[in-house]
Amino acid sequence: MINVSLELIVKAVDGKLISSNATEDKSIQVSKVNTDTRISCEQCLFVALKGPNFDAHEFLLEAAKQDATALMVESGAYEKLSDTVKQALKDIPCILVNNTRLALGRLAKLIREASNATFVGLTGSVGKTSVKEMLAEIFRQAGSTLSTIGNLNNDIGVPLTLFRLESHHEYAIIEMGANHAGEIGYTSGLATPDVALINNVAAAHLEGFGDLQGIAQAKGEIYDGLKKDGIAIINNDDAFAAYWRERISQPIKTFAMHNSADIMAVNLELKQHQVCFDLQVGSARYAVTLNVPGQHNVMNALAATACSIAAGLDIDLIVKGLESFAGVKGRLQVHRPSDQLTIIDDTYNANYTSFTAGVDVLVKQPGKTIVALGDMGELGEKAREYHQKAGLYAKQAGVEHLLTIGVLSQFAHQAFAEGAHHFTSQQELTNFIIKTIKQTKTAVLLKGSRSAHMEHVVEPLLQWS
Ligand code: ATP
Ligand code: UDP
Ligand code: MG
Repeated sequence: MINVSLELIVKAVDGKLISSNATEDKSIQVSKVNTDTRISCEQCLFVALKGPNFDAHEFLLEAAKQDATALMVESGAYEKLSDTVKQALKDIPCILVNNTRLALGRLAKLIREASNATFVGLTGSVGKTSVKEMLAEIFRQAGSTLSTIGNLNNDIGVPLTLFRLESHHEYAIIEMGANHAGEIGYTSGLATPDVALINNVAAAHLEGFGDLQGIAQAKGEIYDGLKKDGIAIINNDDAFAAYWRERISQPIKTFAMHNSADIMAVNLELKQHQVCFDLQVGSARYAVTLNVPGQHNVMNALAATACSIAAGLDIDLIVKGLESFAGVKGRLQVHRPSDQLTIIDDTYNANYTSFTAGVDVLVKQPGKTIVALGDMGELGEKAREYHQKAGLYAKQAGVEHLLTIGVLSQFAHQAFAEGAHHFTSQQELTNFIIKTIKQTKTAVLLKGSRSAHMEHVVEPLLQWS
């Protein structure tokens, strides 16, 4: 992390420093922040958060024992500590704050402001991690780049990402997610991006937002955190493009495949594992081969290109970065263990939009096509409708078998009708697929929300072949 003094931290979080030697301790430099004693706290500022399972104020002694540099603690919790614990903590500087979760954010903003890097912030309903990884691949060609690890994209994950900033970083790619209104406004305010992207809006996490308009508003908060002299990136194919345009006062760059935009794709050639297309930037065209399948990945590539151009990168580096992107685990990963079998592992997550993207790729594969679908979660009262639509979509696309497991997936099963099979265990579902593979060349798409754990079906299929 970019080093900052305890004095600056106390000021940034509006805290109170308790220390046996406050004058000297103020100048202590903090180079790491940690919120978890299960990871070593040595030379870290330990921030005690309250979560659903633990209250980390119970681990203050443990953090001190591990040689933490200082502690950040809620005043209310500190008062309740026994005299024995307070005595044991007397030699370690302690910053008292009202709320550690908010203080974590204020500290993250301090670190962000100490960085000279160019920041790209991105959100959207689907494809955030895919676009983030494409961007990381592109920006790494240009210079030292920090990017969100995995899915650390909420009000705690974004601060933890910002704490990984070092002074050598020239670029930072920050993924922002949300399951309620206000969350992206908050994280975007911390990251204050130079370039901000909303990849798209789709029916994902509907439970927290009510409807698509609610999602569009919540995603739109990313532009509130965008720097005054920053650039907003808009998907011109999205139904909410005009709404966002109205919301923004900064300059805008657009991308699209269907409507006109600054950055477009033409001459698409969808192959089994790849997509070839010409990237059109103004009147210039550049040939690109993406080593991931699906038209949706072309949209992701256009979004990444728009962000990269807005950040001032050369087109040569952008094309090189896009072509070296090799996909993300569990997001439409195509495995071809034998001639007989194609496995599309899309088990990381599911909603209706990503389901259709997966089916579009499946039907391009050789052999009999099977979709194995676990429940798609967080759809609230629309759950039944979207599972029915999924079943119909697969049917109309020409999928031969729809295998379902889970309560909601039964609606997809009913809609698909002939050729659909419902299972009560993953073992039976796996056995059905293996029986089919033995008989004929097969391509199978495995899909479901995180909670469905459809990845457990991928393993035996890979091993079997
Ligand atoms: P999460 O909200 O869980 O963090 P995310 O927005 O980061 O998800 P990814 O992890 O990149 O999204 O992809 C999730 C699923 O959406 C995968 O099945 C992937 O294949 C599919 N997907 C990725 N990009 C798009 C897109 N532009 N349109 C439709 N589906 C997409
Ligand atoms: N925590 C900790 N040490 C432990 C267990 C939890 O420091 O042995 C921290 C954890 O990292 C988080 C906070 O306590 O910052 C609240 O934990 P949570 O309820 O989120 O549980 P978790 O999902 O981390 O196990
Ligand atoms: Mg993600």
